[in-house]
Amino acid sequence: MTTGGSRFLKQPLAAGSGGFVPEKPDMMRSRDDLLKEIQRLNDGALPENQLLLVVVSVADIKRYDDIIRIFGYKFAEAMLTIRIEDLTSMLPDIELYRVGFWSFGFVFDATKMSDHKVFLDSLVAKLAEPVICRGIPVPIKAGVGVCDLKKDMGSSEDFLQSTFLASQVGGTSANEWVACKDDKANDHRRAFSLISDVFQALTTPDEFELHYQARINLKTGQCSGAEALLRWKHPTLGVVSPGEFIPLVEMTGYIKPLTGWVLSKAIAQTMAWHKRRIFFNISVNISAKNLEEDDFVKLLEEKLDHYHLDPKYLELEFTENSLSFDQVAARKKLQAIRAMGVSIATDDFGTGENSYTGLASNPANIIKIDRSHIANVTEGSRLQAVVKSMITMAHDLGMIVVAEGIETGDTLGMMTKLSCDYAQGYYMCRPMLVEDFEAWYEKAYAGG
Ligand code: C2E
Ligand code: CA
Ligand code: CA
Repeated sequence: MTTGGSRFLKQPLAAGSGGFVPEKPDMMRSRDDLLKEIQRLNDGALPENQLLLVVVSVADIKRYDDIIRIFGYKFAEAMLTIRIEDLTSMLPDIELYRVGFWSFGFVFDATKMSDHKVFLDSLVAKLAEPVICRGIPVPIKAGVGVCDLKKDMGSSEDFLQSTFLASQVGGTSANEWVACKDDKANDHRRAFSLISDVFQALTTPDEFELHYQARINLKTGQCSGAEALLRWKHPTLGVVSPGEFIPLVEMTGYIKPLTGWVLSKAIAQTMAWHKRRIFFNISVNISAKNLEEDDFVKLLEEKLDHYHLDPKYLELEFTENSLSFDQVAARKKLQAIRAMGVSIATDDFGTGENSYTGLASNPANIIKIDRSHIANVTEGSRLQAVVKSMITMAHDLGMIVVAEGIETGDTLGMMTKLSCDYAQGYYMCRPMLVEDFEAWYEKAYAGG
């Protein structure tokens, strides 16, 4: 196990590496210094497999948050100090750069070792040991990302980012270091481009658009309404799925105007249907981040007023993790939304850790059973028993149950047999632009 005192080692670095291991992490050379070093090395003629850039992420950010929450800042800092000592004792001749809050980078010459892979394995093994801090063993899992400086990875910024990303992958996978791939840099560039372009897209007509997927009442066979699903027609990247861009936008303040745009568009469309005496409900996906906004409930109320939509026709879908940030505040907002007459659905039900235990205190009045439970429901009595118990429990709590991801007639039949209330899925219809959705509806229900 890793133990350590509270001081940083002060051993001299080998000749040529220039300096001493700093006493405090904030005295270390910075990310910018490392970027300059990468640039300098890349500008020189490099043989392949000689110089490697390594990034060590001491723990992932979620774990770091947990440690601060449970043990406090000072303890977290003391742990970091011990980990830096571990690193410097394994890398006595190498200069460490601080590249992120809990991440450190260094360049090392692979030709100086008989087998650099063995060395990297031993580094990972060492960092997989629990840190003993103030007598308490705390398991934290470091990730190690490695990149050959010879590789053409774009700018030094891209290079470092790719190695950092590889270290993050390393922290979540088995105990092994992760070599960078070129596509990591591309992923990073793509993500950055998407984030940079959101604002522009929000102010450009038609870059974002809503598709609608029907929800079918399993008792009557009627279409009760639709779920609005966002699409981004990016001018250079083509159609980008919300599964890719929503998590990125959630990292910025733009999730607020984006959700606002979706709500306005979906509510306005629903009103347009109502004016034609098609009384559809509309479901809108809301990000967990929106629940952190102080004025979310007020803005929602204003939108309903503005478009004169009766709140009973609106449903907001949240995933189970929406409640994990600040449970009390989030729950209060959800209750206020329910009090307005708007429905709340728990999306992807059955994928969270607390699906069952959280159900009793869940302010939602609808659960949407995740596709992963539905896909194989016709294939075994055990799966059916699980889905059946979800439905029974929700019904006992007075909740409505929707099955998502119905792809076959057999699955639809099984969900009807299991007393599920509503269903969505490609078998009935895919998400479509409003004109196609209306044409589908006409054909399916009005004999058009
Ligand atoms: P979700 O809310 O669980 O939406 C269902 C996803 O499954 C949609 O993917 C839909 O196109 C797809 N789907 C529907 N029926 C089937 C089926 O039978 N089989 C299969 N394999 N898939 C089916 P989509 O549109 O790519 O959306 C992905 C996720 O992005 C959504 O998952 C939702 O979490 C998020 N999302 C979509 N629109 C918005 C939005 O306006 N705001 C926010 N915050 N998130 C959104
Ligand atoms: Ca949804
Ligand atoms: Ca879902």
